[in-house]
Amino acid sequence: MKCPTCGDPMIVVEHESIELDYCTNCAGVWFDEGELELLLEGMDLDRSMLSLDRILTSPEARTREKKRHCPICNRFMKKATVGHDPEVLIDACDRGDGLWFDGGQVGQVIQQLNRIDVRSEDSQDRLITFLGDVFQIKE
Ligand SMILES: [Zn+2]
Ligand SMILES: [Zn+2]
Repeated sequence: MKCPTCGDPMIVVEHESIELDYCTNCAGVWFDEGELELLLEGMDLDRSMLSLDRILTSPEARTREKKRHCPICNRFMKKATVGHDPEVLIDACDRGDGLWFDGGQVGQVIQQLNRIDVRSEDSQDRLITFLGDVFQIKE
């Protein structure tokens, strides 16, 4: 699969049975439909903010950022914001193929969820493990 941002071929990263596609050039991450929810579930975090249904039914975000093509169906993806303080601008395939995060955005979103969700004391550790795995591949 090609990176929607820079066009480089992405590599598949596997973490705790979740597969994601990672661009070693720009550090963007693609989650197939359902994979992100699995990741958050594994970390005991609230998934509702990042539910694909919710993102696809929310209004398109106003931004000047260039539209990107879905790496699966090649159609333009929708711009959507998730989280707050700050809002994170992501791309979502209208057909529900998945979600695209620019480099560092996955970490931002998960940190926000961590702030909200005090139940999950060890999710920070798991996040570090997760990002550490991705980072190693970048080296
Ligand atoms: Zn890229
Ligand atoms: Zn698509």
